Amino acid sequence: MTVKTNYIKINTSRNFEIIDITSKINELIDINEGIISIFSKHSTSAIVVNENESGLLKDIEFSMDNLISDKFSYQHDRIDNNARSHLKSFLLSSSECLPVKNGKLDLGTWQSVFFVELDGPRHNRTVTLTMVGE
Ligand code: ZN
Repeated sequence: MTVKTNYIKINTSRNFEIIDITSKINELIDINEGIISIFSKHSTSAIVVNENESGLLKDIEFSMDNLISDKFSYQHDRIDNNARSHLKSFLLSSSECLPVKNGKLDLGTWQSVFFVELDGPRHNRTVTLTMVGE
């Protein structure tokens, strides 16, 4: 069994942006079979698994905006004015742990892995890939 680590650097261009990183992850997988942890090192972003369908991606943005309303004032806004970005991140997850088979992510037909920017645009967002397997 081995453990391998790699990183993906992402520049984002919008405040809310869903970026499909499935093929980047597959390029960097360095084990044949095992588990990969995909972890975003930021508290205003997320890693999620879902379907890459343009209407659905807009529905996700619409739903997040409605769940974390801009009608209220939030205490963290006194610090750096991005409370809603943190709260959206809190509802999602900073990581996913997924199976690897034959050197690739073993996803379902309609599944992709997304980096979700919640406080962009930002430079040098870092996603850590930790692979455990053989
Ligand atoms: Zn903040």
